[in-house]
Amino acid sequence: MKREIAVYGKGGIGKSTISANLSAALAAKERVLQIGCDPKHDSTRLLTGGRRMTTILDHIRDTGPADHRLEDILCVGYREIGCMEAGGPKPGVGCAGRGIITAFELLDKFQLKQQYDYVVYDVLGDVVCGGFAVPIRREYADTIFLVTSGEFMSLYAANNILRGIRNYDGEQARVAGIIFNSRNLADESVKVEAFAEAVRLPIFARIPRSEAFAKAEKAGKTIVQMGEAPAQLFEEIAERIRGELALYPARPLTDEALEELILGAREQAHVRKQAQAGAAETPAEKIPAPELSPTELSSAELPAGEAPSEDAPAEDAPAFAYDPGVLSKNLIRSEPLHGCAFNGAMSMAVHLRDAVIVAHAPRSCAYLSWQTISSTGRRALFERGVLMPSSLMPNITATDMDESDMVFGGTERLLEAVRKAAGQTDAAGRKPKAIIVISSCPAGIIGDDIDQAKAFSTPDCPVVTIKADGNLAGDYLQGMLMTYTQLAKQLVDPQIKPQPDTVNIVFEKVVAKNTETNYQIVREFLGRMGLRVNCRFLCDTGVDEVKNFCSASLNLLGYRDYTGKILEEFFETNYGCRFFERQLPVGFEETAQWLRGIGAFFGREHEAEALITEHETEYHRRAEAVRKDLAGKRLMVVTFNHQLDWVLSAALDAGMEIVKICVFNFSQDEGFRTLLPQAEGIEIEENYDPDKAPEEIRRLAPDILLTNYESDAAAGDILVDTIPMCPDVGFFSGLEMIERWTRLTGAGRKGSWHKDRALVEKYFAR
Ligand code: SF4
Repeated sequence: MKREIAVYGKGGIGKSTISANLSAALAAKERVLQIGCDPKHDSTRLLTGGRRMTTILDHIRDTGPADHRLEDILCVGYREIGCMEAGGPKPGVGCAGRGIITAFELLDKFQLKQQYDYVVYDVLGDVVCGGFAVPIRREYADTIFLVTSGEFMSLYAANNILRGIRNYDGEQARVAGIIFNSRNLADESVKVEAFAEAVRLPIFARIPRSEAFAKAEKAGKTIVQMGEAPAQLFEEIAERIRGELALYPARPLTDEALEELILGAREQAHVRKQAQAGAAETPAEKIPAPELSPTELSSAELPAGEAPSEDAPAEDAPAFAYDPGVLSKNLIRSEPLHGCAFNGAMSMAVHLRDAVIVAHAPRSCAYLSWQTISSTGRRALFERGVLMPSSLMPNITATDMDESDMVFGGTERLLEAVRKAAGQTDAAGRKPKAIIVISSCPAGIIGDDIDQAKAFSTPDCPVVTIKADGNLAGDYLQGMLMTYTQLAKQLVDPQIKPQPDTVNIVFEKVVAKNTETNYQIVREFLGRMGLRVNCRFLCDTGVDEVKNFCSASLNLLGYRDYTGKILEEFFETNYGCRFFERQLPVGFEETAQWLRGIGAFFGREHEAEALITEHETEYHRRAEAVRKDLAGKRLMVVTFNHQLDWVLSAALDAGMEIVKICVFNFSQDEGFRTLLPQAEGIEIEENYDPDKAPEEIRRLAPDILLTNYESDAAAGDILVDTIPMCPDVGFFSGLEMIERWTRLTGAGRKGSWHKDRALVEKYFAR
């Protein structure tokens, strides 16, 4: 990619004609993509022979996220120019600015521009909201042209565009100059020249008024294609763009100064003539100082030593091939959505224990999120005795966006919140190790650029931005996955080399009641083999641990389900990380195999075998003890769980008969799996119809029904037990479950055990 060029101009000023001719001229030597960012969607018409194409927004409206196809919105025009139109809603309805934002999000997903040398964005220059300013964000245009005539409203729009650029860039230079599209008006050159001088920009090119444009337009072609004058002018412009290009910062005028300058231009011209004669002061001396941008204001207010860093880690982050796009299976498979991406992102981000989360959101969104997170912690503590510190007092602050932010933009309020967060200290006087900015629906709708907060990044406290944008970005799972991947992209140092005897644990389910006890079991196993855990990604994790993610020689997946596999692929693709093929083990056989595999990887086979032998004796002793109560008992399973070997093997070891396994369809998983040789004789029915269950339970008359829910059909003599979706790890998980059946079925409790408060508290309320 050589350049991304944004051509901004007031509606009707001729920017589309200029953009198309510029693209046509550039395409003589290079690959060019032109993207029309005007709801009129006629930017590329001259490049495609007048063909009307499906706009990006029409395509998004008519297809689901998993069905978006590049070929439906990309058209190949003159000289192989890639042509796209963002499109927009009908006049008077909807939000065209939001449309531009949505269209650019889809373009990012396709990573299309990497296939071209030049991208030309043709943008409506009446910058009325954050949406139309998207192409001037730093991740897009690196070169900006302003198209204007000498009309006041055209110059007014050009000045507004400079304001928009100033808001993003401060003193950074990205404007190549003004393209003066002449209307042959009186004093037009004087006005445009005066404006150019006032804003300290060159007039890059002057396009004369010519009948050739109208003729070419009628033919549905560019004048470059027609080969008529002033086609040569565009060839020259293209040649200059190919070379070194001087760029300038945006220095907009105040409205008063602009009016004085342009509406009083006749007088200015007079003064200029006098100045040239050496008889008067220069007009430049009358030009007021440029406006101070919010970025400058914020920087100016920074305390000493906290100036925005030039070498912010996030800015220097390597370009990744991995584009998360739509990750949530619920979105991909059009399944019911659970919560919004903002909430999902917040819920994961709080597991960074030494970071501050800044929710760029109205108070209500932030409050709901805080409640969700903290109530999970309270429930875990009071119902199960599990302390989840990150949930109990999540370190969240919010920008409390209000209506005025929706109207005027909320970026300044966000910058202020981030500045404050960077300076805050905890009870022990420690500053945050990172600030995580997460955006909600309202921030996304108005197009607030939360990346501006990265100006506050320092090596000691990087600012990470997650554009979760509430329901606009997707559901809860999408938000979780965005947090996982964005934290990694913006924090993990890919240069760090793997250290010996070090592992990470990736994707523990943080809301499960046994997450912490499972971790303690795994940590003890690893410790016995001389291995150390570097990072739990993400569960009670420090920012430095995430930065050092690559120091682990091996990564252990907590759960190898849909989400776990996405994270595995993400880290393998982007960081070359190695993953162990088994998830955290449940039950005797899985645990033994897991230990043997890890022992073999690290050369600790002896330690692994010692651990297995040590637990084997106890396992057999306990399995033998339950035999006298359970041998011959009939077990039926009706479940969403697709891996049950841990409990089935324990039941078989205790001499039980498994009468049937009924497996519901569960999209998180990929089908029932078993490695048990004894499973061959067992009836297994996948995609089980729940309506069949009552009749089958009556017919098969099991002694014990193991299921995810309590079945009414099982009332009476059948003991019903619940399969945990997240079973305990370790050698004894299956055994412990069947051991409790012996207690629950004993002493006349069969069928009414769940009314026994002591038993319920002992086994279910932990
Ligand atoms: S969907 Fe949007 S408005 Fe609703 S809680 Fe999520 S971020 Fe807030």
